[in-house]
Amino acid sequence: MKGDYLYCPNCGLKLELEEVKDEGLIPYCKNCNEYYFPHFNVAISMIVRFKEEVLFIKQYGKDFYILVAGYLKRGESAEEAAIRELKEETNLDVSSLKILKTKYFSKTNTLMINILVDVTNKDVKLNYEVDGYKWFNYIDGLNNIKEGSLAKEFYLNFYDNYR
Ligand SMILES: [Zn+2]
Repeated sequence: MKGDYLYCPNCGLKLELEEVKDEGLIPYCKNCNEYYFPHFNVAISMIVRFKEEVLFIKQYGKDFYILVAGYLKRGESAEEAAIRELKEETNLDVSSLKILKTKYFSKTNTLMINILVDVTNKDVKLNYEVDGYKWFNYIDGLNNIKEGSLAKEFYLNFYDNYR
């Protein structure tokens, strides 16, 4: 499986599978006396809201709207990452936030954490990572988020349950 260790990331020894109670067979380094549970990336995906409008962005030269997102840094909470990423990419400040849903995205071996983020104003200043942005009312948001994307799945969950 993508994300499974075959060799010890500390000493390079080939790992052996050892039975761990209630967990099944887990890769184990007998040199370091360490188990390596499946590892994966963690990222946040944000529904950025001001009053009754939501912010979508365009990125990577693609012509469709997605949610503002970013990977967590080591030691960071999802909440801290949301505040940092939003400031970096849009210069917006968070007034409150709430985790709505999480989902594992196998294509990039990433656990995605969807967060509803209310911001203090609409004055977006994009950094170099973002190509464009637009504020949408809730209904227009439904019709403008990329079809078939995880962003759309998260937005639908917001639209149906939290708006
Ligand atoms: Zn080792």
